[in-house]
Amino acid sequence: MTVKTRFAPSPTGMLHIGGARTALFSWLYARHFGGEFVLRIEDTDKERSTDEATQVILDGMKWLGLDWDGEPVYQGARQGLHIASVHKLLDEGKAYKCYCSREELDTMRDKQKLAGQKPMYDGRCRERADTPEDAAFVIRFKSPNEGETWVRDMVLGDVCFPNTELDDLIIMRSDGTPTYNLAVVVDDADMGITHVVRGSDHLNNTPRQIQLYEALGLTVPKFAHIPLIHGADGAKMSKRHGSVAITEYREQGYLPVAVVNYLARLGWSHGDDEVFSVEQLIEMFDLNTVGKSASRFDQAKLDWLNAHWMKASNADDLVDEVTRLLAVDMQGKAALVDVIGCLQERSKNLIDLVEGARFFYVAPTEYQEKAVKKNIKEGTWTLLDRFIAKAESETWSGAAAHQWIADICEAEAVSMGKLAQPIRIFLAGVPVSPPIDVTLGLLGKEEALKRIQKGMEKLII
Ligand code: GLU
Repeated sequence: MTVKTRFAPSPTGMLHIGGARTALFSWLYARHFGGEFVLRIEDTDKERSTDEATQVILDGMKWLGLDWDGEPVYQGARQGLHIASVHKLLDEGKAYKCYCSREELDTMRDKQKLAGQKPMYDGRCRERADTPEDAAFVIRFKSPNEGETWVRDMVLGDVCFPNTELDDLIIMRSDGTPTYNLAVVVDDADMGITHVVRGSDHLNNTPRQIQLYEALGLTVPKFAHIPLIHGADGAKMSKRHGSVAITEYREQGYLPVAVVNYLARLGWSHGDDEVFSVEQLIEMFDLNTVGKSASRFDQAKLDWLNAHWMKASNADDLVDEVTRLLAVDMQGKAALVDVIGCLQERSKNLIDLVEGARFFYVAPTEYQEKAVKKNIKEGTWTLLDRFIAKAESETWSGAAAHQWIADICEAEAVSMGKLAQPIRIFLAGVPVSPPIDVTLGLLGKEEALKRIQKGMEKLII
């Protein structure tokens, strides 16, 4: 059997950490077995679905590298198929029209509550002989009244649902639109999904879906329900806990490899290992090593993994994203790949790196006041003049410039910082930069001297 999994988000809210993790696990399972992974946008709720949410799903998944096979499928376009299945059930006597009004249903539920029973539809329209003309109706599935339905879950194990607890589910609303449980069964079966991987918040839907598969004579897929993600305080994930649109992590400078690594470890484990490349995850991932309990979102761990992948990434692989975030003209200036190479070790994330890289492309227009006060003194100009003289008379290189600074400072019996720091301030506006030889080497003679001279002019009164 070829594995075929899917991710089936509803574009009614932003794709956040939880949804992205579900997508990742579904994707990893398919990729591990060399199977297929499809994306089905469940946009049947026209009122609440938005183009923006759909875009976040598409962008977020692309960014994380969760590629889907074929074109994304839009569930709304498949309504004809869902309706046909509702009619099939109706024709076979496995579903029926329910004419109960809202008031009638409310009264029924109130009575059940008063009697200490679980409120549920009591099936009163099942055997109804009269068919009120022009009255609004929904279509309900005749779910078995006896026995039990077992969910043999690949993560949670076997879960038993007594059928008496499952009332007759609405499969078509009074406006003629099929409901989620019906549509999802028809689509998963029609698309040949072998493994349904989704959040454990759907577990209660599964026995109903199994009954629908059986009633429609369809093959029941395997199910894997992934426990939810909680905030660090154990409460349900919310915005406060970092549950923002997944694309927001991109804007905050996280690397997709770090987010994928982090998401994989939210619920899945492989010994005590923490760091996994995407290739390793594909090789090692299995649903039977996903834990049964909820995991906690841990910002510090995500940051730690991000810093790790900042160091471990190939500078070439960061060029495109840094270019996008920097958004400056780099024509004829230091090669970005080299700038990244000297900054990635010390950057927690791409925003950090971009801020550190900016001065290579954009000359400072002002100098940090505190740094000027601390580092630019009476003797500074003499040292800088000597440095400029050296640069103008000898062959320029980062290493050579570093040596001139050392020699000049030694001759003056001052520490190297007395010259290196003023140079840094004039080059970068702040007294921090990669090592001075690297910085000067990358900026080049002309630009470095121009900035130093401009600094001297600006600060001299
Ligand atoms: N569309 C459903 C949701 O976004 C998921 C359906 C499923 O995975 O079965 O919650």
